[in-house]
Amino acid sequence: MRKIALFFLLAMPFTANAQLSNDDVHKYDHFNQSQYRNEIRIPGFDGYQTLKCDFHIHTVFSDGSVWPSVRVQEAWKEGLDAIAITDHIEYRPHKDIVVSDHNESYNIAKKEGDKLGFMVIKGAEITRSKPLGHLNALFISDANALDVDDPLQAIDIAEAQGAYIIWNHPGWPDNKSTFYPVHGDLIKAGKIDAYEAYNYMESYPLTFDWYAEYGIAPMANTDIHGPIDIDYAYGEGWIRPMTLVFATDRTEAALREALDAKRTLAFFHGTLVGDKEYLSKLVGASLETREVGERLEVTNISDITYKMTKGDDLYIFPAGKTVLIKAPKGTLDVENCFWGNGKKLQYRF
Ligand SMILES: [Zn+2]
Ligand SMILES: [Zn+2]
Repeated sequence: MRKIALFFLLAMPFTANAQLSNDDVHKYDHFNQSQYRNEIRIPGFDGYQTLKCDFHIHTVFSDGSVWPSVRVQEAWKEGLDAIAITDHIEYRPHKDIVVSDHNESYNIAKKEGDKLGFMVIKGAEITRSKPLGHLNALFISDANALDVDDPLQAIDIAEAQGAYIIWNHPGWPDNKSTFYPVHGDLIKAGKIDAYEAYNYMESYPLTFDWYAEYGIAPMANTDIHGPIDIDYAYGEGWIRPMTLVFATDRTEAALREALDAKRTLAFFHGTLVGDKEYLSKLVGASLETREVGERLEVTNISDITYKMTKGDDLYIFPAGKTVLIKAPKGTLDVENCFWGNGKKLQYRF
């Protein structure tokens, strides 16, 4: 018995919680998967690091089915750097069972975040029909104050708290990504800062031009309601939708500064959408090159596979792998990087 116990001790020296008990009870705490974090490798550039974020998450405190602290554990485990808890203000189907105010889901999540050293941003979803639709207010101080009849007043209250406002799922629920006058007015007034080019399992290609047209930051968020690995069918290499933020540091202040500066890309199922320059720099930081005679050795140090074409030639640079190719001349179309609707990034090695 003692020999077996010793084996576990030697085999699992990295598990802080592994311990010998006695001959009656052997503990196998290393089977607890919650202590292993996946690392998503996406390099930074220009002195920025790439923060992997999900700014749209529900819990049982609105219409989700997951407890707030579990949201943090899911995101930590999957390798994210930050999440926002954004329960609906107006739609709380469990409110007779889960009795609380609008701040409680964040408070619970934040406590867990602090334990793990993980950023949790306070938010809420202002929930109305179109034309206004749904908006997430992030970095707020009191979600209860947003519980008012007039949604434009709710936005003003959030703004007064220093909110960062996201226009959620512009193409939902009517399958039309209509840009209404109210959105134009809000953007002009500086009251919409970002929008979801991707939400949950939907993409809104008409919105891919909005960064260039309106100067609002593109995002991909999960809007997750159920457990993350039940709502999304994970396969090998699958990475949940996320917003990449290029920040000077892994802190809430640096994250906010980067968001205000609109340094984001939407990352959804292997495709990136956003500013041409950020796309180009991210691809450049991901692909390291070395000339080998007439050929080019390309090492993709990121977890994003890039596909490029030139005429009939297809070049694939798989995540985490090195390929040796005939050095391409001129610019290539990057098939999974868009700076507008149908507008592929042009990339030159
Ligand atoms: Zn919504
Ligand atoms: Zn939502």
